[in-house]
Amino acid sequence: MTINEGHTAEPLRLLAVHAHPDDEASKGAATMASYVAAGARVMVATCTGGERGDIQNAAMVGDAHSARDMAGARRLEMARAAKVLGIEHQWLGFADSGLPEGDPLPALPDNCFALKPLEIAAAPLVRLMRRFRPHVVVSYDENGGYPHPDHIMAHKVAVEAFHAAGDPGKYPGTGEAWEPQKLYYDLAFNPQRFRALHFALQEAGLASPYAQRLAAWLEADTEGHTPPAGSHPTTTQVDCGEFFEKRDDALRAHATQVDPDGFFFAVSPEMQRKVWPWEDYSLIESRVPTSVPENDLFAGLR
Ligand SMILES: [Zn+2]
Repeated sequence: MTINEGHTAEPLRLLAVHAHPDDEASKGAATMASYVAAGARVMVATCTGGERGDIQNAAMVGDAHSARDMAGARRLEMARAAKVLGIEHQWLGFADSGLPEGDPLPALPDNCFALKPLEIAAAPLVRLMRRFRPHVVVSYDENGGYPHPDHIMAHKVAVEAFHAAGDPGKYPGTGEAWEPQKLYYDLAFNPQRFRALHFALQEAGLASPYAQRLAAWLEADTEGHTPPAGSHPTTTQVDCGEFFEKRDDALRAHATQVDPDGFFFAVSPEMQRKVWPWEDYSLIESRVPTSVPENDLFAGLR
């Protein structure tokens, strides 16, 4: 794949909006690395500092830096991951809302990202869109991929900014209007993919960590789909298996958040390339003509 083959137009640009540092490594990382390698510019916007995250990696329990300053530790991790993927990165500067747990759920902390009025929360992203001028924007679906309040808010600000950035009457003082052309939702948790990986592991006589997840999906799918349908159809599959090792290196760069023996590493890159060499997306809106299924987020823009 070559971007802009045969002419010297400015490179195509992709902006991915994420809630926390590490989300860019677990959702669409190989896609981003593949586009960087092909000459596109890729920017990740991270809404919050992830400072309310717990240590998810036993080897990092007792780590002095993260114990003293989780936000600072995660800034360093994010910089390492960005370097691995070759992406540009921008913090949007909001406070992590944390994942409320308990019954009843506790109130969200004052001043956190998820409690901000939409126009305040979306303004830095509108400003970034007007500066970076992405052709394609990738975000989470309405459920945030999973229902963390910051993920749901990241979805809201991405959709708001996608629609507002091109309107010169909106968000005055944040730069010259720029209209992104395509909006996608990331389908990193596509049930079809987990199902395929689950059966490949079983067939190879290996333990699968996905059995429980699959059963829960089947139970939640009241229409009885087999395999269960995702909330949005897969319209676009980017063949990026060649970049799975880079994705895994980016994940490991988030050492406080990612267990190197955990869930994300249950299936070898080789097996993933055989079974599911793609990352999956749902095209939500396009201002350029395109037809689905697609195999390129920039389809219609080249
Ligand atoms: Zn997150």
